[in-house]
Amino acid sequence: MPELPEVQSVCASLAPRILGREIRSVAVRRTEVVVGSTTPEAMLVGRRFTAIRRHGKQIALLAGDDALPAICVHLGMTGSLCHRPADDPAVRAAIASPRGGRSKSVKDSGESMEVRHLHALWQLDDGTWLVFRDPRRFGGLWTYPTFADLILERWGELGPDALTARPAELFARLGATGRPLKAALLDQGLLAGLGNIYVDELLHERRLHPLTPANALSASDVKGLVGSMRRLLARAIRAGGSSLRDYVDGEGKSGSFQLTHRVYGRGGEHCRRCRTTLQTLTVGGRTTVACPKCQPGPAGAGNPNGSKQRRR
Ligand SMILES: [Zn+2]
Repeated sequence: MPELPEVQSVCASLAPRILGREIRSVAVRRTEVVVGSTTPEAMLVGRRFTAIRRHGKQIALLAGDDALPAICVHLGMTGSLCHRPADDPAVRAAIASPRGGRSKSVKDSGESMEVRHLHALWQLDDGTWLVFRDPRRFGGLWTYPTFADLILERWGELGPDALTARPAELFARLGATGRPLKAALLDQGLLAGLGNIYVDELLHERRLHPLTPANALSASDVKGLVGSMRRLLARAIRAGGSSLRDYVDGEGKSGSFQLTHRVYGRGGEHCRRCRTTLQTLTVGGRTTVACPKCQPGPAGAGNPNGSKQRRR
């Protein structure tokens, strides 16, 4: 699932290609991927893209000031927002078949899988396309009459962005919950942007066990955590994010940060710091990998294996 660095890479790669461009038309092939109005006005037709904003893992496409319509994009598990050339064959096929095959099988509809998953396509004034693609459809688009409404209704429910959260703010938020640190950091309402990859990497870097109660951290622990979090996210953004399964940026390029993961996806392998075998446990329903030597269990949590539970 794309996390903050991947979503930031999408925004950065799209900006030079779409900003300043007028939106000539839109095709929504699956209306159920859009929450809110799907009129041309709501989909920004006739306006120019003026900004791409990000908060946590969510993107806002803007075409003017805060009082004009805006679209929130959530990539979910497998979503992507890509810029495609004017003559892209899959885009042409999708436009020629305006409604995505619904209950028909792929075979019956005669659509390739690639075409089938292109749900919303905006044509820009240079003939190129901005395309929302999402095979598993856990992502989607949310349209709002104004950007102010988007912030109020959607981003207002998120915690501070992980790239800019201040230590004092995060210390107060973590101090208000006794949940395991990993579960707290994954909670988008507490802190927006981190997912399973970057929380596991961050806790290993800070030598913190994932089951440490969030409110057990001192102010100086949280200050160190925030510093490491910013550096980790900055490194991942420079690498174009982590490409697991099918993540690509707005130009269709994969990231390379997965090559430097220290714990995520490496359960049973050696810790790159101390050579101890990395353990896999489940915290808050999520598969978690930690080093038993570098990240000793919190007092009272017992053996990390003792807390292992079946997912869901
Ligand atoms: Zn270790």
